[in-house]
Amino acid sequence: MGEQRRKGLARLRYSRFVEDQFRQHYAGLNNVRVRALLVLVACGVVLITGLGMAEHRVSAITATFELAITMPLLMATLIASIQGERHQIYQYLLAASALCVGLIVTSVALRAGLHGTPYYFGAEVAWIFTVWLILGLRFWHAAAIASLISGAYVWGLVHWGFGSQEALFESLLLLGANVIGALACFELEVAARDSFLESRRLSDLADRDGLTGLYNRRAYNNYMERVWRQSRRDESQLTIVLIDIDHFKDFNDRYGHQAGDDALKRVAEVISLGAQRPLDFAARFGGEEFALVLYGPAGGFGHDLPENIRSQIEGLAVADAGPGGRARLTVSVGVAIVSPGAGRSLAGAVQLADEALYQAKEEGRNRVVVREARLVHIETGRFRASHPRCAVG
Ligand code: GH3
Ligand code: MG
Ligand code: MG
Repeated sequence: MGEQRRKGLARLRYSRFVEDQFRQHYAGLNNVRVRALLVLVACGVVLITGLGMAEHRVSAITATFELAITMPLLMATLIASIQGERHQIYQYLLAASALCVGLIVTSVALRAGLHGTPYYFGAEVAWIFTVWLILGLRFWHAAAIASLISGAYVWGLVHWGFGSQEALFESLLLLGANVIGALACFELEVAARDSFLESRRLSDLADRDGLTGLYNRRAYNNYMERVWRQSRRDESQLTIVLIDIDHFKDFNDRYGHQAGDDALKRVAEVISLGAQRPLDFAARFGGEEFALVLYGPAGGFGHDLPENIRSQIEGLAVADAGPGGRARLTVSVGVAIVSPGAGRSLAGAVQLADEALYQAKEEGRNRVVVREARLVHIETGRFRASHPRCAVG
């Protein structure tokens, strides 16, 4: 988190995954205001073009640019702003719209200046501030667009031979507006990035188990629903590993609650090492029960990793057992390897792992039982019906 803050605030960029989430969040912050503005601007463009054409002031090229390019762009931006998941396309469309509208404003202001009404320059300055501060563009996008628009205006001043005093005055004003806009835009983005990280930190805290630091049951439930949908989309496998410490009540009775807590932390460390890939997930259900969910092609991985975890935990010396040596713990592990798809339910998959864990307990504990549901339908409740006790619940 500290690393993200340092990098993210100085360079206005986090690591890829966090950056993507931030951008979606940032785009959403200004959405409503920007949508209203887009509608207003679209009406303005139609009005300006209509009036210009009626008075034969607008060339065919300008009218085509305004109606055939800018208007569809504004509409596409409006539509993309409604679809939150298209936030990347939306950001680029918004930037392109801001540039096109800026060029229209520039051309109107310059033409007005040529015809002796220089106060249209105010519209140019207003649009520069809009680009920096109102549209919710990220700093570097805003910088590129404001520079292009200002550059076009200054080019127009030189190209159409405006008086040197007027040209200098307007250029300096544009420069001032850009400096103020840039500073404010930078500060706004830094503040948004800071509060985004803070809200992520708080929500992460609420998702963690206080003792072990693993995710808690609430986070597990949310994660399972998301990852189930994702693996269904990707047609990927999902390996659900349920881990329950054996005879933990006896361990507590013998070594005390504090030793029990320490042992839970040690076991959690081993389990968390199993969640190595971005979409893997380790959680403590509560008590002495844990879950590890592995996303993606298992290819033997689903079989080996649970056995590794079991043997590593067996090898831990979790508490001082007096002169006789160190106390050890074992775990029973139930594994379900499923391919989410038609006819499969999340509840059914979890129950398959549940039944595997129950079987591991029944067969003498300290072992791994794997059930694979690639070819058969999950028959929920079948195992449980003949075995009234459920190992996890
Ligand atoms: P089994 O092999 O059948 O799983 O037996 P078990 O004793 O592990 O299972 P049982 O569910 O009967 O007991 C679980 C024990 O876990 C009861 C409780 O004392 C202990 N426990 C649950 N949460 C904590 C905790 O946060 N800290 C400590 N120290 N012990 C806990
Ligand atoms: Mg238990
Ligand atoms: Mg237990």
